Amino acid sequence: MLENVNEKCAVVGIFGHKEASKLAYFSLHALQHRGQEAAGISSSDGEKLHTIKKRGLVMRVFDEAKLNTLSGTSAIGHTRYSTAGDDSILDAQPVFARYDLGEMAIVHNGNLTNAEEVRNALIEKGAIFQTFMDTENLIHLIAKSEQKKLIDRIIDAVQRIEGAFSLVFLSRTKMFAMRDRHGFRPLSLGRLPNGGYIVASETCAFDLVGAEFIRDVAPGELLIFEKDKTPISVKVFEPTPKHCIFEYVYFARPDSKVFGQSVYQTRKDMGKELARIKPIEADVVIPVPDGGVPSAIGYAQESGIPYEMGIMRNHYIGRTFIEPTQEMRDLKVKMKLSPMTDIIKGKRVIVIDDSIVRGTTSRRIIRMLKEAGASEVHMRVSSPPTTDPCFYGVDTPNKENLIAANMSTQEICDYIEADSLAYLDEASLLRSVNAEGDNYCTACFTGKYII
Ligand code: AMP
Repeated sequence: MLENVNEKCAVVGIFGHKEASKLAYFSLHALQHRGQEAAGISSSDGEKLHTIKKRGLVMRVFDEAKLNTLSGTSAIGHTRYSTAGDDSILDAQPVFARYDLGEMAIVHNGNLTNAEEVRNALIEKGAIFQTFMDTENLIHLIAKSEQKKLIDRIIDAVQRIEGAFSLVFLSRTKMFAMRDRHGFRPLSLGRLPNGGYIVASETCAFDLVGAEFIRDVAPGELLIFEKDKTPISVKVFEPTPKHCIFEYVYFARPDSKVFGQSVYQTRKDMGKELARIKPIEADVVIPVPDGGVPSAIGYAQESGIPYEMGIMRNHYIGRTFIEPTQEMRDLKVKMKLSPMTDIIKGKRVIVIDDSIVRGTTSRRIIRMLKEAGASEVHMRVSSPPTTDPCFYGVDTPNKENLIAANMSTQEICDYIEADSLAYLDEASLLRSVNAEGDNYCTACFTGKYII
């Protein structure tokens, strides 16, 4: 099996700016929450591509001297998240290659669903792969395409892949940005303050570098960036939007706008919906930081129950390097979150989180709140039960490890030792994200897979 190594990643592309690699670097800082395992940037000076990539956080991978070697007016960058553990630096991105038309580099967020099939077909024809990444398939498809121009080769290649992809390609003189026909993963286009363009997984990167949001790259659209020209748009696929609803639930940063609306406001609305459909009498509403904060604010505002910071989060314990054993996971939750006894003692507490995956976090937190003296703990979750794994780019465990795939809500409530447990339902979630028709992928909550 190919590893799903392009899950939960961030991509960025900068075009037409003399400090391109530095802007890519700052953008990757803003996108660090989408992946902490590895980071990389490729730049082009017009003649040659330069690439630096390494395991670790963005600030560890780059320094000023390194960024100075990434010269040129265009650059693409990537942060990678992956649980499946290949330590290899080869699995960091950008993926770089030399081929008959010159040099290219690619960054990818998403997950290709026919990766194994495509790879096997390529191997049968003699291709040699260096990594487990599905992105490497693209390099081969482009290199082997019989089309003469890179643009046509890219179009040729993306027609052979299926699944979720927000991609940015860099050649010596051009940059290309592409989103799959469903627009599973976000990708936005912006204008840089002193000329040039930026594309990034989330608009929080635009804010950091002072870019102005233009619009989202449309599902199925390919954008071509050329020197001194406005980006050219090519409709490669008829768009059939299926945006990932989990971007709103958990993944995107609250200060971003994804799929056309504010993540913060959407999460707050989820909390309000939750308060309307799953009310309970209590003294205080507290979030599980950081994910539960906006929805807890919404819940508190709607219910009129005071909002308090009842749990402190230690921000110096990263989201990464979760040990695979249960014991280590339990310990990790303890290291990361601690109770504010003064807020909790003797109180009926509503604790809000964005999701329950394995149930480990909720169980630990509820035990912790009870030990801190809470008289009752009512768990409210601002998304429906996570019952199915994601094949389009979010890292979720197999079905056997998803607690809601194996237990009823009452059983989960007993397991996490809460006094009550309630989830947001699908209809309320769809209302919060202003869904139109069926333009969201909800497979993680419904098992309704599109591909
Ligand atoms: P668990 O302990 O497995 O139930 O994890 C639930 C916690 O993980 C919640 O606090 C969520 O905010 C967070 N979470 C949800 N989805 C993910 C994900 N794909 N990767 C990492 N953390 C997640």
